[in-house]
Amino acid sequence: MRLIDPHTHMVTRVTDDYERMAEAGVEAVVEPSFWLGSPRTSAGTFMDYFEHIIGFETQRARQFGIEHFNTIALNPREANNEPLAKEVLPMVEKFCQRETVVGIGEIGLDRQTDAEEFAFRYQLHLAKKHNLPVIIHLPHQYKKLGVERTLKIVADEGMDPSKTLLDHNTEETMPLYEGTQWWRGLTIYAVTKLTVERAANIVEQYGVDRLMVNSSADWGVSDPLSVPKLAVELKRRGYPRDKIEQLCFHNPIAYYRQSGKWTFQP
Ligand SMILES: [Zn+2]
Repeated sequence: MRLIDPHTHMVTRVTDDYERMAEAGVEAVVEPSFWLGSPRTSAGTFMDYFEHIIGFETQRARQFGIEHFNTIALNPREANNEPLAKEVLPMVEKFCQRETVVGIGEIGLDRQTDAEEFAFRYQLHLAKKHNLPVIIHLPHQYKKLGVERTLKIVADEGMDPSKTLLDHNTEETMPLYEGTQWWRGLTIYAVTKLTVERAANIVEQYGVDRLMVNSSADWGVSDPLSVPKLAVELKRRGYPRDKIEQLCFHNPIAYYRQSGKWTFQP
């Protein structure tokens, strides 16, 4: 089966991961900018990181036959360092115009502070200005409140639901989208987010329209084979093959093609 992982932090992974992903059918990945695990102390380290995931990481993926795209952002957690945020936000605008950058993200709320909301709205404006889709990170604590606040902000900013993806959903948050057109993401990350089984249950319950699944694989206990494993689990349950392919391959293409920079053709 042909697969795409639309949210994974390959910078934290070893080449064996690329090899296993390629063997399992992963043909392309999207690498969003994120927190490094410890706080950055100067704007220069953001610049080097953006350059690294755009250049070196894309080349590394291609050695394994995997197409690699990026989304660029000041992440929600580091938006709380306001002097640093002021320096980094204009950089985001510069980097989001690079050729492999297919969106802005991860943006959004983490601890749900006002500083995070400021950087979130600023980057939503950038996305509209440059006509790019966004990946929005949902907070892990007080998640339901976080989704409600996020939905208010994206509506208030007049975001186009076709270009707005809210990621890291759970059983608790999925009902909040009823009657809306926002894209929703499920992150299979057993420790703090979802197991393969729980994600498969959600897919069976809600269907695959405007839904994406990803591994968000990083330096934590996570699995770069989460998307292939979900595809196998859905197949085992007898879920229609064309729906699995829509979810795990065609939906990420449809979403990121809107950037005008998605060069991977199925
Ligand atoms: Zn992430």
